[in-house]
Amino acid sequence: MREVADYLGNPAAVSRASYVDSRVVDLFSTCSSRRRPRQTEPGGAGNLTLMQSPVHTTDVVVVGAGLAGLAAARRAAEAGLDVVVLEASDAVGGRVRTDAVDGVLLDRGFQLVNPSYPAVRRLLDLRALSLQQFAAAVVVARASGSYRLSDPRRGRGLVASLAGATGSLREKAAFARYAVVCSYGPVSQLRDRPELSYGAALDAAGVHGQLRRAVLEPFLAGVLGEDRQETSRRYVDLVLRSFARGVPSLPAAGIQKLPDLLADGLPEGSLRLSVRAREVTGRRVVSAGGTWRARAVVVATDPTTASELCGLSPPRMRALTTLYFRAGWSPVPDRRPLLHLDGDRRGPVVNSAVVSDAAPAYCRNGSLVAATVLGAADGHEVEGQVRRHLALIYRTAVEPWELIATYPIREALPSMAPPVTLTRRVDLGDGLFVAGDHRETPSMQGALASGERAAHAVVASLGAPAARDPVA
Ligand SMILES: Cc1cc2nc3c(=O)[nH]c(=O)nc-3n(C[C@H](O)[C@H](O)[C@H](O)COP(=O)(O)OP(=O)(O)OC[C@H]3O[C@@H](n4cnc5c(N)ncnc54)[C@H](O)[C@@H]3O)c2cc1C
Repeated sequence: MREVADYLGNPAAVSRASYVDSRVVDLFSTCSSRRRPRQTEPGGAGNLTLMQSPVHTTDVVVVGAGLAGLAAARRAAEAGLDVVVLEASDAVGGRVRTDAVDGVLLDRGFQLVNPSYPAVRRLLDLRALSLQQFAAAVVVARASGSYRLSDPRRGRGLVASLAGATGSLREKAAFARYAVVCSYGPVSQLRDRPELSYGAALDAAGVHGQLRRAVLEPFLAGVLGEDRQETSRRYVDLVLRSFARGVPSLPAAGIQKLPDLLADGLPEGSLRLSVRAREVTGRRVVSAGGTWRARAVVVATDPTTASELCGLSPPRMRALTTLYFRAGWSPVPDRRPLLHLDGDRRGPVVNSAVVSDAAPAYCRNGSLVAATVLGAADGHEVEGQVRRHLALIYRTAVEPWELIATYPIREALPSMAPPVTLTRRVDLGDGLFVAGDHRETPSMQGALASGERAAHAVVASLGAPAARDPVA
C-alpha cells in the first residue's frame, strides 16, 4: 500500500491505496482534469517574489472553497458584491471531493447527500445532481441472520421488520414516539430541547434495548464519528429528522458534483485555486501570491484553520476512515442499495455500502464496496480486520476483493458534544466573518447554511451594493 509521497507527481499511484486527509487534500489532483479549468494564482505555487507581491482590492474575499465558502460566495455575488474566493487546494470541494482512479470514482470518505436538506434545495439544482438514491432502509447483520429495516412509511415498517429479531415491542414503540417528534415537530422546538447527550435522551425516552444497541448506535456512530453516544441530542434529533424526510443519495458523477455545480455559478474569474491564505488581519488577506484588501473577509476554511486565522478556540474534531474495495460482483444478491450495519458489533466497520449498486457510474467494471471505520486508521493495519468484518456483514467470502484505496480523514467532523449552539455567530466584527460546518452542524446542510448566513451578514453590514463606497 502506498503512502501519499508516492502519489505526488504520479496520479496513477493512488490506484493501489492512498492516504488523504482533509488538511492535505491539495496533494491530490486527479479530479482536476474532469473539471473546467479555473484561474490559478501563480503565487499559489510559491513562485512570486515578495517584490512582485501585488495588492488586489475587492468587496469580499472568501477564504476556502468548500461548500460553506462556495455558498457564501454565491450569495454575496448574487447580492451584487464583487467576490474573490481563495482556495488552497487544486480544486473546489474541501471535504466533499471525488478522485477518479482507474475508471472508479472514489469519494474522499464515504458520504451521502440528503435531498431533504433545506440548503441543498435552495442552492443546488437537484436535477443537475442526477441523484442516485439509496433505499430508505438498512440491513442489520447479526450472528442469527440479516434483517432489513425499512422506513415505516415506505416499506414494511420498523416494527414489522424487526419482529422477533431485535428489541421489544415496548422499545420500538418508544422509539417511534421519539422519531415522530423529531420528524414532524417544528425545528425550533427541536433546537430548544433540553441539552443532553443523545444517549441520555434515548434513555429518558425508554429506548435502551436491542433496537438501540443493534441498530441505532451502529448507525449513528458512522454519521457522528463517535460511538460513545455523547453527541448532543439537539443535533441527533435533526439528523433523525433529515433521514425521515429524505432518502440519502449520491450524485451520479461523484459527491464532488455538489461543489462543482456551486462553483459553476460563480462569476467568471472569481475563483483562485492553489492560493493559501497565510494571514487574515482585519480586512486584509495575505497569501504567497499577494495581498487582498476587501470590505469584508469571510473565513470558510476547515474548522482548525479557521480557528487559527480568526483567533477562535479550535473545535474537537472526529476522524473517520473509508476503505474502498472492488469486488467482481455485488455481494448483495438483489443489488438493492442499502446501508449495511453489524448489530453485534463484531469488528471495526461502522457502516458499509455497495456504492455501485446505487450509483453504477462509480464502478463500471465490478462492484465498489465502501467500508467506514471510526478514527484515522492506517490501511495496512485495519485491512485484515475490515475484511473479516465485511465477510460477516455480507455473509460472503471477501478474499478476492481488491483494496483500491484508504481515506483516513483525521479532521472529518467537528464534535457536537453538549453543550452545543446549533447556530454560532458568523460576524466576528471589523469586517471579519466566518463560515463552515463548525458554525452550524457537521454536515453539508450545516456548511451550506453557514455560508449563506455569513453572506447575509456581510450584505447587512456593507449595505446595499448600489449605495456602497468603492473599495479604497
Ligand atoms: C468522511 C466524511 C463523511 C461525511 N459524511 C457526511 C454525510 O454523509 N452527510 C453530510 O451531510 N455530511 C457529511 N460529512 C460532512 C461534510 O462533508 C462537511 O460538514 C462539509 O463538507 C464541510 O464543509 P466546509 O465548507 O465547512 O469545510 P471544508 O470542506 O473543510 O472546506 C474548507 C476549504 O478551505 C480550504 N482551506 C483551508 N485552509 C485554507 C487556507 N489557509 N487558504 C485557502 N483555503 C483554505 C480547504 O482546502 C477547503 O477547500 C462528512 C465528512 C467527511 C470527511
